[in-house]
Amino acid sequence: MADCIFCRIVSGEMPAEIVHKDDLVTAFRDVNPQAPTHVLVVPNKHIPALTALGDDERRLVGHIIQTAVKVAESEGLNERGFRVVANCGPEAGQSVDHVHFHLLGGRALGWPPG
Ligand code: AMP
Repeated sequence: MADCIFCRIVSGEMPAEIVHKDDLVTAFRDVNPQAPTHVLVVPNKHIPALTALGDDERRLVGHIIQTAVKVAESEGLNERGFRVVANCGPEAGQSVDHVHFHLLGGRALGWPPG
């Protein structure tokens, strides 16, 4: 989608610090990091929200999570721990309408989030 920020990052039209890319997903550093490691893992294809995921996306979602875990490992977070979280809809604070999972780590993370 031409007006989607994350589609533009996936296509290379908008710059981002990409840490992983393959045929299904792209992972890049969040522009406003909330932790020493804050990476977003997004599907390369435009899916507006978790609620728009269909049965066909099961493999894709699994791959997103596995990618987040691999990035966490490469960031040296396996022993310390990390969080993978996705916001859906206004009350969760979803601000970009393209499915994305946040990988957060490198500091103690409070729970529950505010
Ligand atoms: P959410 O609030 O869960 O929808 O998360 C959206 C995230 O995208 C926020 O953490 C933003 O800081 C991040 N973000 C927005 N624009 C960009 C961008 N151009 N590059 C990297 N991260 C971005």
